[in-house]
Amino acid sequence: MKPLLVRGGRVIDASQNIDRVGDLLIVDRRIARLGTAATGDEPWTVLNARGMVVSPGFVDLHCHLREPGFEDKETIASGTRAAARGGFTTVCCMPNTKPPIDTQGVVQFVEKKTAAEGVVRVLPVGCITTGRHGKELVNIAELAEAGVVALSDDGDWVADPHVMRQALQESQPFGLFLSDHCQDVSLSAGGVMNEGKLSLELGLKGIPAAAEEVAVSRDIELAQETGGRLHIAHVSTAGSVELIRRGKREGVAVTAEVTPHHLTMTDEMVTGYDTNAKMYPPLRTAADVEALSKALDEGVIDAIATDHAPHTRADKLCDFDVAAFGISVLETALGSVLTLVHAGSLGLVTLLSKLTQEPAAILGRGDIGTLKPGACADVTIFDPEAEWTVDPSLFASKGKNTPLAGQHFKGKVMATICGGQVVHRDGAVRLETAYHKTGAGID
Ligand SMILES: [Zn+2]
Repeated sequence: MKPLLVRGGRVIDASQNIDRVGDLLIVDRRIARLGTAATGDEPWTVLNARGMVVSPGFVDLHCHLREPGFEDKETIASGTRAAARGGFTTVCCMPNTKPPIDTQGVVQFVEKKTAAEGVVRVLPVGCITTGRHGKELVNIAELAEAGVVALSDDGDWVADPHVMRQALQESQPFGLFLSDHCQDVSLSAGGVMNEGKLSLELGLKGIPAAAEEVAVSRDIELAQETGGRLHIAHVSTAGSVELIRRGKREGVAVTAEVTPHHLTMTDEMVTGYDTNAKMYPPLRTAADVEALSKALDEGVIDAIATDHAPHTRADKLCDFDVAAFGISVLETALGSVLTLVHAGSLGLVTLLSKLTQEPAAILGRGDIGTLKPGACADVTIFDPEAEWTVDPSLFASKGKNTPLAGQHFKGKVMATICGGQVVHRDGAVRLETAYHKTGAGID
């Protein structure tokens, strides 16, 4: 492969405190150097990134690729293409598949499928309990050896405190964290949206903030007691933020993620009974949204994760009460979160660290989420000012289920490079050959 030069973009890399215009050189699937390229006699592939931001490839701690078992909703092939379009070069796939990812064999299936059909890095998450039944721990040693990066019964909370305590203890020797879907079903059962004034007006059964907060509270206590690594998935309430803040202050090994939708939308989206606005946790109030974005800025919440949850049309083309939970997010994530930057409530450098360096740190990976020389050549190039309109029919994802259809966004992914390969390129971005000097050709 010829060296690839990403020329003249605004390079932002939180892991090195870099924010400056320059050229980024990729050689042999690795980041080689950042600097200014000099002309010479060796042919390089050049991607002109003038006016664009050049970031480490985005890392998603939480998405649903649905394979094996739910290929009508998404596959590793379609989901990784959606990821590439959204600027994500690494995605952690959740284990609520059929069969669930609770044995080495299923981990290997995901890995083989990714190698054959995927276009970005896929890191499998294994179950906490066998069959996600919440009763017996999986064979953690077996899953760790197979290469899972975390454990989660996502879609369900591990309701039995004894089992969760065991998981927090027994995951430690393997360096795995637990991604915790916090939902006490005795409080949320039958609920379809945030419990509040609006759920009463709409006549829909609510899910109280407490359904999440009692779960967050219990598991932070258990993490404190055991010393296990706890990661709170898709935080949605101001109360959860305060519990996490307190846990961190007391030295608990707790991290947290928030989705683009919980950062930018409120339960008002449910007015009109749009089933595409139905998700778990539900969209909350304006006060929650504000607390989440502040928590992100302050570092109480570490990362932005998509919780990309594609569904078929039939899953959503029904009454609100019976519609599936979840929305298709990978291709709208950047547009959504950039609204915070354009509104002045979050800095661009901070935002990008939540999509790159911070999730990579949670995964314990120093070779992704960074543009350091030697790192994987995973690069996302976006135009922060380019305007576009969300059209789900153009999604690479099979999941067209988004409440953002027709929404105008400012900020568009123009090219995505994974392991040195261009895996997504907007029509406006051209690749050219230009002659440069090898060796000391860039400094
Ligand atoms: Zn979940």
